[in-house]
Amino acid sequence: MSATRIRGACPTLAVPMATGDGLLARLHAPTNGLAPTALAGLAEAVQAHGNGIVEVTARGSLQIRGLSDESASRLAKAVDGLNIEVRTGVPVDAPPLAGLDPHEIADPHPLARTIRQGIVKIGLEGRLAPKVTVIVDGGGALHLADVAADLRLMAENRDSRIVWNLALAGSAADAAGIAALADNDTPTAVLRLLEAIAARGRTARARDLDGPATEAALRGLPVAPFRRSQANRAPRPVGLHPLANGGAALGVGLAYGQAAATDLRALAQTASALGIESVRSAPGRAMLFLCPRADIAKYLKDASKDIGFIVDSNDRRLSITACAGAPACRSAHLATKPLAARLLADAPQLFDGSMRLHLSGCSKRCAAPQNADVTLIGGEDAPVIETQDGERRELTGKVAEDAILAVFRRAATDYTDQRNPRQSAVAALKRAALGNASDDDERPIGPYVHQEGK
Ligand code: SF4
Repeated sequence: MSATRIRGACPTLAVPMATGDGLLARLHAPTNGLAPTALAGLAEAVQAHGNGIVEVTARGSLQIRGLSDESASRLAKAVDGLNIEVRTGVPVDAPPLAGLDPHEIADPHPLARTIRQGIVKIGLEGRLAPKVTVIVDGGGALHLADVAADLRLMAENRDSRIVWNLALAGSAADAAGIAALADNDTPTAVLRLLEAIAARGRTARARDLDGPATEAALRGLPVAPFRRSQANRAPRPVGLHPLANGGAALGVGLAYGQAAATDLRALAQTASALGIESVRSAPGRAMLFLCPRADIAKYLKDASKDIGFIVDSNDRRLSITACAGAPACRSAHLATKPLAARLLADAPQLFDGSMRLHLSGCSKRCAAPQNADVTLIGGEDAPVIETQDGERRELTGKVAEDAILAVFRRAATDYTDQRNPRQSAVAALKRAALGNASDDDERPIGPYVHQEGK
């Protein structure tokens, strides 16, 4: 493939990115989703030209690894033949059920569309850093509060009219709040801010904007005070979701963020046979099948489970994200997926949903989930365990896997010891691996408790 690879650019099908296990190509599916037949075709192409594995990223893009220049070129050609309208340009993202979610405050699609059109009209494409992202979030069950963005807009019903709370650089919890704007004025403010970022150069991001730049962006527009929305329940895409149009969406999870292309093809073919017209990928490494009726969604749920997909949001596998690992990746020092299965079998108590574990075959951390509580990294000499606050320790032993399993088993026993009822899974693991944990690590033991707004 002769296309130029730009450092720091997001990989695409046409311009994949070099990683530890060959080239990586990413596909941003169209906003209204893929037809199941197109998904089946894509899975076939990955089976024929890639490493046979499809990943869903933390942001809901589809990703294929292990490509060479030649196979990447063949894959791109095969996908071209499927007539998939791949999204390109500056990402302006909305929640995966936007427009269909009965709990959303406002449908973000019209605003997102106007912003996209504005970006093209004023020639911003190609002038912004490749990773600059806008999120337009109408709220709802599968909101994007945890996904970081340069510019984020959150809908609010204020005095019986919709306003958009505009914030810069971060997630809903930590982005810098700027102002609340009416629907009609919001695109102007957003495009001015994007212009200001572009004016600072090809590597600038929203975090580089200063006070005068944001004031200039709002000049002449009627604005109201910014209000940060309350932390909603963390989105749980896996499972059944009623839709505003009377249908239902089935969220299907991929164990450790990956699926065999053959399994994905089987699922897509089943969905197509059931008359399902659209599949959307979702942040949280899931896929949403939009079903015309609830009974169809239930049927697909059983079929998905039989194939091996996750259909229960309490499934312990959702607590672990793993990279390709050995033997799929030449750079790996850990067989991440077999290790994940061993950890779940040997220390299931730790994976009750209160701790997020990232297994990385080497220090490149390709899977890089947001907010992993604990990361286990394969190393040449020994695996390293690392906590979110940066504490690290090598787990030494004759056999790396034995050293890891010993620590996790010890932590599981400690976690279920009722003498410390406030102990969290993270604290138990920190004690077992590092010999210490702080009060901040303690949380009540309880049933499945996904942490909110973290
Ligand atoms: S992080 Fe995993 S997939 Fe990435 S290069 Fe290392 S071993 Fe390979």
